[in-house]
Amino acid sequence: MKWEVVIGLETHAQLSTVSKIFSGAATAFGAAPNTQACGVDIALPGVLPVLNTGAVERAIRFGLAVGAKINSPSIFARKNYFYPDLPKGYQISQYERPIVEGGTITMQVGDTEKTVRLTRAHLEEDAGKSLHEDFQGRTGIDLNRAGTPLLEIVSEPDMRSAEEAVAYAKMLHTLVRWIDVCDGNMQEGSFRCDANVSVRPAGSTPLGTRREIKNLNSFRFLQQAIEYEVRWQINELEDGRAIQQATVLFNPDTGETRLMRTKEDAHDYRYFPDPDLLPLEVTAERLEAVRAAMPELPQAMRTRFVQEYRLAEYDALLLTASKETATFFEETTRVTVAASKVALAMDGQEPVESGVAKLVANWINGDIASRLNAEAIELRNIPITPGQLAKMLSRILDQKINNKQAKVVLEAMWSGEHDGDADKIIAALGLEQISDSGEIEKIVDQVLAANAQQVADFRAGKEKAFNSLVGQVMKASRGKANPQQVNDILRRKLAP
Ligand code: ADP
Ligand code: MG
Repeated sequence: MKWEVVIGLETHAQLSTVSKIFSGAATAFGAAPNTQACGVDIALPGVLPVLNTGAVERAIRFGLAVGAKINSPSIFARKNYFYPDLPKGYQISQYERPIVEGGTITMQVGDTEKTVRLTRAHLEEDAGKSLHEDFQGRTGIDLNRAGTPLLEIVSEPDMRSAEEAVAYAKMLHTLVRWIDVCDGNMQEGSFRCDANVSVRPAGSTPLGTRREIKNLNSFRFLQQAIEYEVRWQINELEDGRAIQQATVLFNPDTGETRLMRTKEDAHDYRYFPDPDLLPLEVTAERLEAVRAAMPELPQAMRTRFVQEYRLAEYDALLLTASKETATFFEETTRVTVAASKVALAMDGQEPVESGVAKLVANWINGDIASRLNAEAIELRNIPITPGQLAKMLSRILDQKINNKQAKVVLEAMWSGEHDGDADKIIAALGLEQISDSGEIEKIVDQVLAANAQQVADFRAGKEKAFNSLVGQVMKASRGKANPQQVNDILRRKLAP
């Protein structure tokens, strides 16, 4: 039998407010236990929650970014359960009326575009943390995280493979950082996913029974956990056992999922509207104010890059992987165009922007991306500025240096040599390209005289001999000769 995999994701994005969702305590990560928990967070009797408008604004921004409906009013509800890290005995969340309803996330999966529908996104508070490691035979409770604002983003069960789930989670991760609602730091738990997984016979409509894998805080774990879970469920079903709805945990050390609890249903939580919080109204003016302040979104920017700069779809996709990358690209292009306009116009390469943009895209998606990758740093920590890169690229466009020499210049700029100034580096390392045709001709003549055999080979029809001669001229010029001119001059001299 063939099985179809069905996945829905619940993602908790920690909203990037300075203070908590219902109190003034700080949300900063890493403070000593219980130093950032005030009376509201530790549930002293008589305290009252006060809603943080910054959290509301971020939720609205997210809703607008995914094309969702912003509900007004939305309602805060109490989700009742007992746990040592939840001193109130309930978590404030939203239940029947979340602030964000509907919307979609569209992402690239391999060569195809896929759209996942969102069910909702609601505001809620995080719980505290139980610390098991530092206490022999006891458990410590740290309430610093209690009351941290979260946006829980719930998808429809629209994904059909671990690969799609990861692509969805990555797109969501890009988006929340792009619109500045979440720092996306997965190690610190600012962005974590619960994956609901079921399987059903291929071609059948009813959903299979799902198991929910809790708290996956890396894309790799998300992938591994789903793959393991799918194999496990298919195995169970093929052995004739039914799947029980359950919550499971993924163990990264073994790569397996393990039962945590058989699943409770919503009615177990005895949800009811929180009498301490008014229904949350979002006025039309407020909605408009948030809309007006929205940045251009990745999808729109991608389309614009293709149209405005005539970039290939794939280049545009890579350049819009983060807002930092997109900004770095546009800034570098702008400065390079300004510096190279005259030279390019004289060369008749029109339009100027698209020629330059392609060059900039090639460097950012090529040498720079591999360099960042090798050093495991993000673009925001790159040691060169768009202005410095633009200067180096202008020298390629001026034909002062060729691509090979440019790589050497980039290397030096990266290590901060000569203030990262391309011109100083070119001068100091003697990298200037030789574009004087008389000088190149002299070298060509020497190489031809010294390689009579290869000249004969070429004349006898061996095209390979030509490349070898180009190589020798380049070598004789210590890599400095303008490769296009070397080609042209050699062709001319070897012509019958
Ligand atoms: P709960 O809040 O109790 O976890 P929901 O019914 O709201 O449950 O669903 C949570 C997530 O599980 C959603 O992302 C939804 O798309 C997904 N989901 C629901 N049923 C299935 C199923 N049979 N298989 C896979 N995912 C499912
Ligand atoms: Mg759930």
